[in-house]
Amino acid sequence: MKLYNPSELRQVIEMHGFSFSKSLGQNFLIDHGVLSDIVEGSGVDKSSCALEIGPGAGVLTRELAAAAKSVVAVEIDKSLMPLLDYTLGEFRNVTIVNEDVLKVDLKALIKENFGDAPVHVVANLPYYITTPIIMKFLEEEIPVKSLTVMVQKEVADRMAAPPGGKDYGALSAAVQFYTVPRIITKAEPHCFMPQPKVASVVIRLEVQDKPTVNVENKEKMFAIIKSAFGQRRKTLLNALSKSPYINIGKDSIKSALAEMGLDENIRGEKLSLEQFARLSDLL
Ligand code: SAM
Repeated sequence: MKLYNPSELRQVIEMHGFSFSKSLGQNFLIDHGVLSDIVEGSGVDKSSCALEIGPGAGVLTRELAAAAKSVVAVEIDKSLMPLLDYTLGEFRNVTIVNEDVLKVDLKALIKENFGDAPVHVVANLPYYITTPIIMKFLEEEIPVKSLTVMVQKEVADRMAAPPGGKDYGALSAAVQFYTVPRIITKAEPHCFMPQPKVASVVIRLEVQDKPTVNVENKEKMFAIIKSAFGQRRKTLLNALSKSPYINIGKDSIKSALAEMGLDENIRGEKLSLEQFARLSDLL
């Protein structure tokens, strides 16, 4: 079965009376080059496991099943279950879980299915859940080695953005605190069925054993970052002193900024991750 072949995929879809849901972001991959780049870039091999989010018709799942020790794929759409039984029936190492990935207990799912084997997350994500899913994996420190995800180009730019520019924000800080991001490949709209309006990028986030910067209290640092970028037109001093996420007096912020040699009128977007960590420690 060559499910990435558009006529084969269409045939399987019609055979099961499936219709695409726009609201669930259902654009299935039909480009073998992109599929191979994802599998290779993800680092999945016969000694490691793949956790796929949103298998759709199983196009990517089939490639992962051939490359990995075992695969668990979490799919929200119940109407895809019979279709996935059909497209993945030949693989003994694939388990489909019919759940919303944002609601499922991922730590328990990983422990139950993969034990202590290394796990790589692979996902061609619906755009509306890209950021919440990535943040869930990072903030809850779900034990995975890497996340290889297909995202809108703008989201990939934000994840990899250096400080100072318009793309740099809370997502950049979280991604760069826990992982080292690397762009794997691009996927134009014609690589999908049906075609989306915008181009996508596959990005790999290599989760680090230790965060990339040292900080005493990371919850506090992320509250500061959230405050700084929640009101990014304000100066850092004003954004922090009026923040609903932290309660720190203006004078303490002023003296911390002075100790770091930073101007009182600086905006949060100018601070590097190391500077946010230092500020958090000083406050
Ligand atoms: N992986 C397939 C491929 O590459 O052809 C399908 C990718 S499609 C862009 C996204 C898939 O994610 C859809 O099958 C959709 O139903 C599923 N999905 C959407 N929201 C989800 C959620 N909250 N939890 C799990 N799966 C979800």
